[in-house]
Amino acid sequence: MDIVLDICDQYFFTPYVYPADWVEDNPLRQIISLLVIGNVGGYLLYLIVASLSYTFIYDKRLMEHPQFLKNQIALEITCACTSIPWMSIPTVAMFFLEIRGYSKLYDRVDDWKFGWYGVIWSIVTFILFTDMCIYWIHRWLHHKLVYKHLHKIHHKWKVTTPFASHAFHPLDGFVQSLPYHIYPFLFPLHKVTYLVLFVFVNIWTVSIHDGDYRVPTSFKPYVNGSAHHTDHHLFYSFNYGQFFTLWDKMGGSFRVPSAFEGCGPLDEVLKVKSKTFEQNGHAKSKHFTNGVKKSD
Ligand SMILES: [Zn+2]
Ligand SMILES: [Zn+2]
Repeated sequence: MDIVLDICDQYFFTPYVYPADWVEDNPLRQIISLLVIGNVGGYLLYLIVASLSYTFIYDKRLMEHPQFLKNQIALEITCACTSIPWMSIPTVAMFFLEIRGYSKLYDRVDDWKFGWYGVIWSIVTFILFTDMCIYWIHRWLHHKLVYKHLHKIHHKWKVTTPFASHAFHPLDGFVQSLPYHIYPFLFPLHKVTYLVLFVFVNIWTVSIHDGDYRVPTSFKPYVNGSAHHTDHHLFYSFNYGQFFTLWDKMGGSFRVPSAFEGCGPLDEVLKVKSKTFEQNGHAKSKHFTNGVKKSD
């Protein structure tokens, strides 16, 4: 995050915002700047990615599903936008520790002896480590003593839209993002790679809520996509995973997504539509027959 803070200091905070004698590495100034960056960045990332996904990927026919709430999109956006400022407080605490040098983040690829191999290794382990942690955190969030206080809000949406991706109780959102923040305190990680991964995990979170159930056939058994996460929203105690199905399979919570078996939410919408179409067709032909009879 110090890359982003440096850029903001150079082009915005130092010339236009703070008094000239307030040095850039002053801790209070850094915390204020990080709060601004965290909130603006959080809103932009959420609203831009979710809007693009809604416009170009989300199948709007899902909005006709019987479990789709009235004004659901407005409710999802309101929930996410209310949570982001609260979520930003503990997130900024982690960013602050990072920029004060407590993490194992490094600047240049060559700063770690493994060079580019180290970068690739850290991408793979970052995904695997966070996938494992989020699975267990998510299961804990479903514990009966915790669920109603924290995670229930996110399950208000049974048939989600991309805007549900960040619609959490603030503490729920933060604890699920904690593995992403903890990783660079435990393992070496290249700073730009971390930023790219951070954007990627936000896009992924949107993508598992986008109602696009298509996945390359060879990925289907391994990747936790929108089809899996949709069933999690509908049936609660299955498919807690984030990136892969591995931990659901090991933890006994895997369920083949209903969308892969021809009975997902979109199939239900299409079934109701074709039934209505058939009934209307019958009614029309009946009306026509009656009309013919009458004219006879
Ligand atoms: Zn859940
Ligand atoms: Zn969700």
